[in-house]
Amino acid sequence: MKYDYLIVGAGLYGAVFARQAMDAGKRVLVIDRRDHIAGNVYTEDVEGIHVHRYGAHIFHTNDRRVWDYITRFAEFNRFTNSPVANYRGELYSLPFNMYTFNKMWGVVTPEQAAAKIAEQRREITGEPRNLEEQAISLVGRDIYEKLIRGYTEKQWGRDCRELPAFIIKRLPVRLTFDNNYFNALYQGIPMGGYTRMVENLLRGAEVRLGCDYLADKPRWDALADRVIYTGPIDAYFGCRLGALQYRSVRFETELLDIPNFQGNAAVNYTDRETPWTRIIEHKWFEFGRDDQGNEIPKTVVSREYSSEWKPGDEPYYPVNDVKNGALYQQYKALAAREANVVFGGRLGEYRYYDMDQVIAAALERFEEE
Ligand code: UDP
Repeated sequence: MKYDYLIVGAGLYGAVFARQAMDAGKRVLVIDRRDHIAGNVYTEDVEGIHVHRYGAHIFHTNDRRVWDYITRFAEFNRFTNSPVANYRGELYSLPFNMYTFNKMWGVVTPEQAAAKIAEQRREITGEPRNLEEQAISLVGRDIYEKLIRGYTEKQWGRDCRELPAFIIKRLPVRLTFDNNYFNALYQGIPMGGYTRMVENLLRGAEVRLGCDYLADKPRWDALADRVIYTGPIDAYFGCRLGALQYRSVRFETELLDIPNFQGNAAVNYTDRETPWTRIIEHKWFEFGRDDQGNEIPKTVVSREYSSEWKPGDEPYYPVNDVKNGALYQQYKALAAREANVVFGGRLGEYRYYDMDQVIAAALERFEEE
């Protein structure tokens, strides 16, 4: 065998695994179907702006080990995610905090806000059984209707009563004036872009782009002792038990000849009527400055449209409902029987992983090897 590991997918999971394997003296070959590395964290330079081509990626973690690890490959800036919600022209602060409650109800003190929420959550009795009940029980019906329902139904293409409660638990609720979207000790954007960070992870690896593993699996398998597969788990098995569902995203990206379009990196459109879920203005991830520290006179914005994945689209999110969860368990059982293959990452494990969780999973996986 020419290689110890064939790594299918040059995204974050594949790149971290490759780095660890190389540092342990293993021979690795990394392949990717796309014509670039970095998977969905890929950034490209447009007029000095690092454009997140596959959607906003804001690194955040509470895991000291992950932070110490990833900062070896990039220096991070001090970006803090604080998206703004636009509901029919009314602007609200996210995540749900005292600024949000003040704008929604005119309440001024935490006690008044807590009383308002307590009054509205009374309609939910017992353990919340779905996202709608969970949301109302966390922040009340007014916020659910204006800031959650439309956005969530657009993003997932499903009724909030058919979605699992845990999705909304990703969002903090605070009785303080704190617009930091994440409860994370460490947060930021890699200076120079995510692509450069992944380049640094992959330094020294043999990487071949534009290679479709599943189209010629036996030939690829013959090259290495073990395979690290980070593509969709159902596709690996030819979808023989049925197709798992994914959400895809389409971006309409424009370069505008103005310095400031919306004054923030992310604005969520939380009504049902606006067809996009959010607009990202990429320059604000880096305070409007290029790598030399100069202010950038233009701006790039991306409107994000969510859709059900169909063959030919890029899969972005697993749909973690009961039906898909059960089907995934069946694929997982098949995967366990593939002795020389590891399934990793958001698509390989069909999990709504954040970047830090992907890194932690890849590090742990290599240690187990
Ligand atoms: N969400 C919402 N309103 C918002 C932002 C988020 O209701 O303005 C809900 C929605 O259900 C979404 C979930 O919170 O699916 C998680 O959002 P997050 O921004 O963490 O998702 P991601 O950035 O991974 O797309």
